[in-house]
Amino acid sequence: MKFTEEHKQLRKTVRDFIDKEINPYVDEWEAHPPFPAHELFPKLGKLGLLGVTKPEEYGGLGLDYSYGLVVSEELGRIRCGGVPMGIGVQTDMCTPALARWGSDELRKEFLVPAITGEYVGAIAVSEVGGGSDVAALKTTATKDGDDYIINGSKMWITNATQADFLCLLANTSDGKVHQNKSLIIVPMTAKGITVSEPLKKLGMLSSDTGQIFFENVRVPQRNRIGAEGMGFMMQMMQFQEERMFAAANSLRGMEHVIEATIEYCKERHTFGQPLLANQVIHFRLAELSTEVEALRSLVYRACEEYIGGANVTLLASMAKLKAGRLVREVSDACLQYWGGMGFMWDNPASRSYRDSRLLSIGGGADEIMMGIICKLMGILPGKKK
Ligand SMILES: Cc1cc2nc3c(=O)[nH]c(=O)nc-3n(C[C@H](O)[C@H](O)[C@H](O)COP(=O)(O)OP(=O)(O)OC[C@H]3O[C@@H](n4cnc5c(N)ncnc54)[C@H](O)[C@@H]3O)c2cc1C
Repeated sequence: MKFTEEHKQLRKTVRDFIDKEINPYVDEWEAHPPFPAHELFPKLGKLGLLGVTKPEEYGGLGLDYSYGLVVSEELGRIRCGGVPMGIGVQTDMCTPALARWGSDELRKEFLVPAITGEYVGAIAVSEVGGGSDVAALKTTATKDGDDYIINGSKMWITNATQADFLCLLANTSDGKVHQNKSLIIVPMTAKGITVSEPLKKLGMLSSDTGQIFFENVRVPQRNRIGAEGMGFMMQMMQFQEERMFAAANSLRGMEHVIEATIEYCKERHTFGQPLLANQVIHFRLAELSTEVEALRSLVYRACEEYIGGANVTLLASMAKLKAGRLVREVSDACLQYWGGMGFMWDNPASRSYRDSRLLSIGGGADEIMMGIICKLMGILPGKKK
């Protein structure tokens, strides 16, 4: 991966923005969630950061995914997981399919304001009955004249309480489970939608997560993204960007926790010497840094191949799997070296410990990543009839 002057400039833009407009407020947003997406997103939009890879004709910067990767990676500077997750939902989870396959009219109506930050978006796939088994979802969108009538519910939806629109995956026919789904853009102003109170979570506190109910919600069929029945395939494609975002976004956060731990271990003395002088500690921190660099190489390679037009399901799944496991390892190991301080709520290692736990669950759990990897390696046994 060769980064140009433009990449460096973009990195600096994101860094400066985070240092000025996000990090000073993170503690406040964590204590009093959610972070104010409707204030923050227009500022990000003004700098072009919500549409880096989106087409210029809809207000995006029209750059390739290496620039999106730079933004995802730098968003990892944010001193919590919830805010970058909310931004990532907007840039890499609820808009890639709309940008690629949405009609011109639909893109003007929803993609343009998602890129300026006027609209906050959410991706609505998971349901109470199951998130891993996407094909088994139960929400329906039934045709009625020129409209769809939507019934069902979605669970654990990020940005739910602040969203202006959803990119919803629903069953639009009774056919085979991989061919009966469509992605539909649903404005949150549509009659018949209710959103739960924000759900109480272990971590990612500044992000709002909610359950959404649909009771005879009417949306025009023209809000469907692409052809009917292609939703499952589109969502699987959309997952590639989600998984690369998640893996790239984890890198700087891990580095920050390791750096903060090194500083602490230099200052903290036990038995007459700094904690860092213990070989078991400095070796472990060196090993974890090596793992982070190895993950970075994998993410960069996935990104490079993606830009080249390859299907990177295998590499993106490997990167997501490795990231989910490594963030847990790094935050757990570092928390240990802070001792009692690591167990305190506002400690950087303890926040990372809470926030990072999600990465092995959301957007496809570790086991789902392993299933995909096994399938692509040709070693996944077929289901017994
Ligand atoms: C904070 C948060 C934010 C989220 N944001 C969104 C969002 O914006 N949009 C959205 O659509 N969803 C969102 N989700 C949902 C998330 O994607 C799902 O929780 C995830 O896909 C797992 O689905 P599940 O919880 O139903 O677990 P289940 O599918 O019930 O699986 C439970 C566990 O079983 C294991 N497992 C599952 N299948 C297998 C298998 N085949 N083999 C072996 N083990 C298996 C895994 O360890 C898994 O964690 C969010 C979740 C959280 C907690």
